Amino acid sequence: LDSEFMKALPVIQKIQEAGYEAYFVGGSVRDRILKKPIADVDIATSAFPMEVKEIFPRTVDVGIEHGTVMVLFEGEGYEVTTFRTESTYQDYRRPDTVTFVRSLEEDLKRRDFTVNALAMNSEGELIDYFGGLKDIEKKIIKAVGSASERFHEDALRMMRGVRFVSQLNFSMETKTELAIKEHHALLEKIAVERIQVEFVKLLLGQGRQIGLRKMIETELYQFCPGLASKKVGLTTFAKFETRLVTSTSAWTLLTYFIELPVSEIEHFLRNWKCSKKEIKHIIKERIAFDQRLESFWNKERLYQAGLDIALEVETLVDGFQQESQLETVQELYEALPIKERQEMNVSGSDLITALKRPAGPWLGELLAKIEYQLLIGAIPNQQQAILEWALEAVKGEEA
Ligand code: ATP
Ligand code: MG
Repeated sequence: LDSEFMKALPVIQKIQEAGYEAYFVGGSVRDRILKKPIADVDIATSAFPMEVKEIFPRTVDVGIEHGTVMVLFEGEGYEVTTFRTESTYQDYRRPDTVTFVRSLEEDLKRRDFTVNALAMNSEGELIDYFGGLKDIEKKIIKAVGSASERFHEDALRMMRGVRFVSQLNFSMETKTELAIKEHHALLEKIAVERIQVEFVKLLLGQGRQIGLRKMIETELYQFCPGLASKKVGLTTFAKFETRLVTSTSAWTLLTYFIELPVSEIEHFLRNWKCSKKEIKHIIKERIAFDQRLESFWNKERLYQAGLDIALEVETLVDGFQQESQLETVQELYEALPIKERQEMNVSGSDLITALKRPAGPWLGELLAKIEYQLLIGAIPNQQQAILEWALEAVKGEEA
């Protein structure tokens, strides 16, 4: 067993010693079979939350009403969730009631896809009631039980489905796909924040092309903010090959392919519930990206973008018949005389004193001019030199 499982093994064993069943479940079991790195392990148990809390001295109630208790053990936290069934979904989102049960099979039955409905015991043996192992081998995403019912119960599962198609680079089983096509409009009931999480994972997945294609074919995109009329752009995006590694570069490229003008990006991303910080970053990145497609960087553009964004952009151009020149960009950036405004060795009040003028709009304009002169290396970044230049510049204007 991998180290992540080994570390958690004593937690499972302690639950067993207390007379209950406990298993590894969900994504970690799937990823182990796929030989992918394992993020965190989830544990499912027949013990009820109060019983789990009696076994371990240190626990945190992270979601006790859903049956999840965080067990603190040797400096780590492990999510231990009681076997449960979910009944009567009335709003296509969350179950009305969660019922704790003692049967693993019942618990696995409520999970979304066969590849996610596997369990593994403390001996490393798989428990596979729904053919998950075979579907991993066949590389398909298939709903557990009736796809139609499962998406009706919880419409987010449709987005999760296309997300796993991309993340795992799997295909989608026909009935599962048809059921998404049939129920795609239920996505409307799901909070955008939750759709966003799945969509970003899809965009960053190794199989983004197929994931996006499935979103288009099933028409899920119709119920994503700002995408309903963007089928053509999404289709072009689905043909683009470069693997994306940051969510900001994914959004940048999306806005590019759907031909969203820079002036509309903020509104679009707000509807997707992106944070203010992300939105600022993405707008900057998109501007730099458009310019970079036109021509190579210059000092001013590098300065405006900043190194992180410049490197993200440079990575993206790789897919546009250009070769990324990351090292050159890095070197050019490092050679910039100043990297940000705060590095200027002159302040507004310095200028007011030296030029003997009251503050006014002239000040901001002059500071911007000085900033540019420093950036292109026309004046050294020393206060005396800057003030001399400023005096000349003002004289020139007055003459
Ligand atoms: P990731 O690698 O992204 O964490 P994961 O499969 O672990 O993938 P989680 O969202 O962490 O996904 O959920 C853990 C497990 O809980 C899933 O593997 C699945 O068995 C179950 N699950 C999660 N969300 C749902 C859902 N909406 N409907 C049914 N089962 C779900
Ligand atoms: Mg997980």
